[in-house]
Amino acid sequence: MFDFTRGAVKFIKGGRYPFCHSVLIDDRVKAVIDAASDQHKLQAFKDHGPVDYLITSHAHEDHLVFNFLFPASTFCAHAHDAPHFENLNSLIDCYGDMGLEEMEKWRNFFLEECHYQPRRVDLYLDDGQVMELGDTRMEIIHTPGHTRGHLCFYFPKEKILFTGDLDLTRIGPYYADRNSNLEETIQSLERLKTYDVETFLTAHGKGIYDGNPAYIDRYLNIIFLREEKLINLLKRGPKTLEQVVEEGIIYGQYPGVLGAWDLALSERGMMIKHLDRLNKMSRVRQEGDLFILTQ
Ligand SMILES: [Zn+2]
Ligand SMILES: [Zn+2]
Repeated sequence: MFDFTRGAVKFIKGGRYPFCHSVLIDDRVKAVIDAASDQHKLQAFKDHGPVDYLITSHAHEDHLVFNFLFPASTFCAHAHDAPHFENLNSLIDCYGDMGLEEMEKWRNFFLEECHYQPRRVDLYLDDGQVMELGDTRMEIIHTPGHTRGHLCFYFPKEKILFTGDLDLTRIGPYYADRNSNLEETIQSLERLKTYDVETFLTAHGKGIYDGNPAYIDRYLNIIFLREEKLINLLKRGPKTLEQVVEEGIIYGQYPGVLGAWDLALSERGMMIKHLDRLNKMSRVRQEGDLFILTQ
């Protein structure tokens, strides 16, 4: 039933968006992190003993799909993401400005496909906290950037680090939300390299990696490659934001739709973050609608 087991830490792979992989702690105290993998397997885990803690690494719809299976568990998340679990409009608002029709489409997708149910966070998790789950020790690492309240989870005895949506895929990091932050994404990834890790578990993609920090470097480097492509585009002349987005540096020129996601929106959100970063570094200035390379 499990795709990976070490000690009491277990892993269930979940497939593509709107699902993700789950981490389970099967000790005297039981916990599920990111209940959005496989409904039947999660149900089987629950049938085998009550789940004390339901933890969600961050407030995105592809990490909470099967939270409804665990109504009696203590629901844990970071305080910064709590409002988005408690109110659907607050979650939708993270994705930027959209028209009423689009908002309705997203609302339906979240409710019907992702089983979104407003839920109050019972226990706020924050950086440096340790949860003793039976004999399993789990350290909470606050890794903002992807969302403000994004969390990673470190198991020092097992040398496992669950990196959530800092997922080490070849597509690279996502930081398109209104509240996403590119600098913090970089800092969070740098920080993850400092842990003594034998196995990285991630929320998407391959899911299981040996603990070589080179995987984090490869992932980080995708950010700098995107930046380099953006600089090369601006070397060809000043561009508007729309022209930058059309270039499709991240998702290609006709990126299409994933769930309710128009990937062009993600492209836009992330290009805004890159232009801001270059602006702060005085590499780019803005004149009216145009972004201009300064050097
Ligand atoms: Zn996410
Ligand atoms: Zn995700």
